Amino acid sequence: MVARKTVAIIGAGPSGTVAAALLRKNNHDVVIFEKQYFPRFSIGESLLCSCLEDLDNAGLLGVIEQANFQVKTGAAFQHNNRYATFNFAENFTDGKDSTYQVERAKFDKLLADEVARLGVDLCFGEQVEDIRFENGVELTLRKADGQQYQFHADFVLDASGYGRVLPRLLDLEVPSTLVTRRAVFTHITDYFSDKAFDREKILITTHASNPEIWFWTIPFAEGRSSIGVVVPESLYVDSQLDSDIFLQTMINETPSLSSLVEDSEWDTPINTLAGYSANVKTLHGEYFALLGNAAEFLDPVFSSGVTIAMHSATLAAELLHQQFSGHDIDWENEYSEKLKIGINCFRTYVENWYNQRFQDVVYYQDPDPHIKAMICSILAGYAWDKNNPFVSDSENKLNLLADICQAS
Ligand code: FAD
Repeated sequence: MVARKTVAIIGAGPSGTVAAALLRKNNHDVVIFEKQYFPRFSIGESLLCSCLEDLDNAGLLGVIEQANFQVKTGAAFQHNNRYATFNFAENFTDGKDSTYQVERAKFDKLLADEVARLGVDLCFGEQVEDIRFENGVELTLRKADGQQYQFHADFVLDASGYGRVLPRLLDLEVPSTLVTRRAVFTHITDYFSDKAFDREKILITTHASNPEIWFWTIPFAEGRSSIGVVVPESLYVDSQLDSDIFLQTMINETPSLSSLVEDSEWDTPINTLAGYSANVKTLHGEYFALLGNAAEFLDPVFSSGVTIAMHSATLAAELLHQQFSGHDIDWENEYSEKLKIGINCFRTYVENWYNQRFQDVVYYQDPDPHIKAMICSILAGYAWDKNNPFVSDSENKLNLLADICQAS
């Protein structure tokens, strides 16, 4: 018989709730400590197809399917007069052919409510401030009224996202190798009148004259959209502009996007985040594992964040249950190395997006459909499918393809 264990999870974002649901399914006692109260705003709104498989596996897909989120069937890319689309139905990998674009306030609350219904103890307004390891884990919590208390668990999963609680407390942080970038973003009532605009696709627009700058347009249901720009931090700082003026200036410099949003109502405050890419020395220890953004975050360009978060949660929760069942787990091989297959694959495409080699692949006019399907699979989140040569040998294959596209 499997011993019933207590797992503490820090954070109720997608990695926290997916891990909680899986552990609860295996009858463990699960407590989530979440410092905020839900619903709350969070960024990360365009999902990939593979997220739905992780939600399904955790028993959480039903609530999401019933929520009337905007269906997403692929990705569109625009740079001046260059335009390309990727349809998830044409994936190389045998998987889902659509997903959703979600307001995270609503999405995260639905998942949190569902895990609470499954028996997970959800403590909102409680912030993890310290940790000690002794016969398991002792967490120090601070409640919203300032009161402190200790909580003992057999294991802790850090799903604290940008809070990066354990990387900070245990000195695990290492700088990201990616350039520091800033995102400036908001929600709009979009009033998009362009009949050719496809609400079922995220639109990635490259800035008219600076291909290092890109915008996302993520349509939601009911006429609203998320819109944002990503720029090198130095460009934002040197501009000395307020974030709202900065976003408008970048859009105005990019005619295809400024004409799309010409009737939009800018009814929500502008938000900004910088230096979000992060890395760590290790993803696990005797009594802990890091999930999602607390483990590593690359870049928003291919909407890989929630996918990696849910994949890490699925891997870690399953390994932890095996460990509680008496199996010896090699966390380095079974968790870190497995998770890094997808992270490293996405990293290759992110780096080649910013050096523009992947942009030339994306906009290539006459692609081989079989190769396009393999690239499409990665954009759909199937970055762990080793049958796809653009996953198993991502760097070499992408280099070769980019050389061909640039030469023609
Ligand atoms: P989070 O969703 O960040 O959840 C962490 C939770 O932990 C929060 O609720 C927080 O309140 C809580 N917490 C933090 N500290 C503590 C503490 N001390 N005690 C208790 N609770 C705590 N990803 C996509 O998939 N698609 C996108 O379109 C996309 N766009 C993005 C755009 C930008 C500009 C950026 C920066 C990122 C984007 N991402 C996107 C990435 C996405 O935001 C994250 O990868 C994803 O939210 C990670 O989920 P998570 O569960 O790890 O953490």
